[in-house]
Amino acid sequence: MAQAWARRSESEPVKLELSLGGRFSAAPVQAHNVVGEIPGRDKPGEIVLVGGHLDSWDLGTGATDNATGSAIALELLRALQATGLKPRRTIRIVLWSGEEQGLLGSRAYVEAHKAELDALQAVLVHDMGTGMVKGFTLQGREACRGLMAQAIAPLNDLGVRELPLRAMNSTDHAPFDRAGVPAFAAIQEPVDYFLGTHHSQMDFPDHLVPDQLVQGAQAMAITAWELAELEARLPHGIVARPANPGRP
Ligand SMILES: [Zn+2]
Repeated sequence: MAQAWARRSESEPVKLELSLGGRFSAAPVQAHNVVGEIPGRDKPGEIVLVGGHLDSWDLGTGATDNATGSAIALELLRALQATGLKPRRTIRIVLWSGEEQGLLGSRAYVEAHKAELDALQAVLVHDMGTGMVKGFTLQGREACRGLMAQAIAPLNDLGVRELPLRAMNSTDHAPFDRAGVPAFAAIQEPVDYFLGTHHSQMDFPDHLVPDQLVQGAQAMAITAWELAELEARLPHGIVARPANPGRP
């Protein structure tokens, strides 16, 4: 339809009248993070946290931003549960709310769980659409490289190999990272994310690539499992680094 209007506008002035059904509320709206977990068998108080965000822009259905990350987090719990195995540390998923308004759900979580931040082994977020996972941003945490390399080693043959030092700051791991927690974003094959579905009216399920999503679920599940099983803890601490535009 947009193309038809564009063609027509080349030959004659086009006048559009729009009726939009959106409304603003005068007061803040209550929203909720959704939390689920498999308790750890040895160290239930230590937690590997994995998530995506449940809210989305209203131009499309939010299929790639970020139903994909939310579905992968759910699948991760389902798949681990189905094995009957219990991780050494607790594996917790959070489907964040209010991400698009400024990481509100994850910021509120960090604030509400201050006393627990030290007990987080790591935080992983999957929020770049349907594309396969290729690695994780180390967010300047060189000290975490060895243990993260160990955690993704079983996934190397699935294409999960990258651990660049760079930081991504535009999704829900960022408030944890700023609070000193080892928190990493999945680096994904772009498919048609930043040039297509991201925050656009194209964000519908026809852009999902099932094979790549399955790989993503495997990558997130195994990384979370390995981090939960590690003998050692990932080093915490606030990392000083220059401001970063946030996208690769
Ligand atoms: Zn997103």
